[in-house]
Amino acid sequence: ESRVGQMYSCVFYSDLERRRMLREKELENRMGSALDNREFVVYLQPKVELEHDAIVGAEALVRWQDPERGLLPPSEFIPFFERNGFIVQLDLYVFEEVCRLLRRWIDCGVKPVPVSVNLSQLHLRDPDFLRKYQSIQQRFDVPPELLEIELTESLAFESMDRLQEMIDEIHAIGFCCSLDDFGSGYSSLNMLKDVSVDAIKLDREFFSGLGGESEREQRVIESVIELTKKLGVRSVCEGVETASQLEFLRRVKCDALQGYIVSKPLPPEAFEKMAFGAPVGRPGEDGADIPNV
Ligand code: C2E
Ligand code: MG
Ligand code: MG
Ligand code: MG
Repeated sequence: ESRVGQMYSCVFYSDLERRRMLREKELENRMGSALDNREFVVYLQPKVELEHDAIVGAEALVRWQDPERGLLPPSEFIPFFERNGFIVQLDLYVFEEVCRLLRRWIDCGVKPVPVSVNLSQLHLRDPDFLRKYQSIQQRFDVPPELLEIELTESLAFESMDRLQEMIDEIHAIGFCCSLDDFGSGYSSLNMLKDVSVDAIKLDREFFSGLGGESEREQRVIESVIELTKKLGVRSVCEGVETASQLEFLRRVKCDALQGYIVSKPLPPEAFEKMAFGAPVGRPGEDGADIPNV
């Protein structure tokens, strides 16, 4: 069998696939030490409330500061970490970094803004996972309402009951909870009748981009925002890039936005400068170079 089998597998693995497997093997070897060496860094993207033009929060978005390859965006490593399970550890690390940051803001006397983190669906396999989040929050003694968990719409595929149960647990701890990437999946509307989140984040895909929104596109967005109001849920628009999109969202009274029109995700010291006027508790730093990721 074996010779022929080997020959076939040689033929079937394309060059591209082989290179991908090599790269993933290498990632696998390095991810643990990357965590220990603090190569994963948390960037913050401001959430801006449209009524007052105020920064009312931030989303934590992870990057990998790889000594060899530079600053890598999540698309370069998260899909792989979702497959090998490492994302669970990484999510907890990001959450801990966020708690550390909030603790410092509180200690330094600035008025902290809530920070949200993303949650991989792999956590659902561990019935106790929220207790881990809670124990980190308690260790840093951060008020739970300053922490928000973003659940992605695709979580619903696991089970709607399980999803609502989890949202209840999140609320029982005192964390806020939002529904991320709303509108990008298949069951968006169906979900809304069952799940009780605090905010809905409209997926970036709602806007086709370039500022030339069609009337139809606008009507869809406007209706979704109206729907959130009827449900008593905050609306947050993701991926807002142009002034015309911003004006439109003001007109239809979207609550808040997150997008390049306001800011890209920033290293914490640059975020602090933007949100609080100066870096917080970092003597000698002024958040100079902002990498373009
Ligand atoms: P997401 O949670 O939907 O985050 C929003 C993404 O949209 C971010 O991409 C952000 O940089 C990007 N974005 C925001 N405004 C704009 C805009 O105006 N234009 C464009 N083109 N993009 C915009 P990013 O940071 O690359 O993250 C991608 C995804 O990776 C996130 O999507 C989230 O699903 C995942 N992710 C990031 N950090 C974590 C993490 O710590 N844990 C987990 N499980 N997933 C994470
Ligand atoms: Mg998110
Ligand atoms: Mg999103
Ligand atoms: Mg998204």
